Amino acid sequence: MSLALEPEIYCPSIDVNENYIDVIPSFNIIKQGIVCPCGTRKDKVYNTQPMFSSHIRTKKHKKWLEQLNLDKSNYYIKYQELNKIVKSQKIIIAELQKEIDNKNATIIYLTNQLTIKDNIDILKNNINLEEKKQENIQEKINIEDLIDL
Ligand SMILES: [Zn+2]
Repeated sequence: MSLALEPEIYCPSIDVNENYIDVIPSFNIIKQGIVCPCGTRKDKVYNTQPMFSSHIRTKKHKKWLEQLNLDKSNYYIKYQELNKIVKSQKIIIAELQKEIDNKNATIIYLTNQLTIKDNIDILKNNINLEEKKQENIQEKINIEDLIDL
């Protein structure tokens, strides 16, 4: 799967005081490198521990971590808001799925009706053809009778 080949996204750890702190992840586990969401170098993939270690010492990264800690009280509110959104999205998806299921059932029903109608039309045509054949045969017989006279 191509997803497995994507680099990992760095996530800071939390210390005993519930502050975000930088902990360099083990690059033995990380096979595709790591990207940092701090925005210092967009899409830059860090492939080694020393590379990432020097990155987290940059001013911009430190500022980002500081901002994370300043905003952390907002995260719970944000988390609750997102939970509400997920809940309402689930309801919307379920309603849409129900609508799709109903429409599918209607399509199946109408397709069956159409097939039945087509079959009836084919039968009617066959009967008409057979009747015309019989008429033609009867006409031929009549004409032959006339010729004999
Ligand atoms: Zn960073």
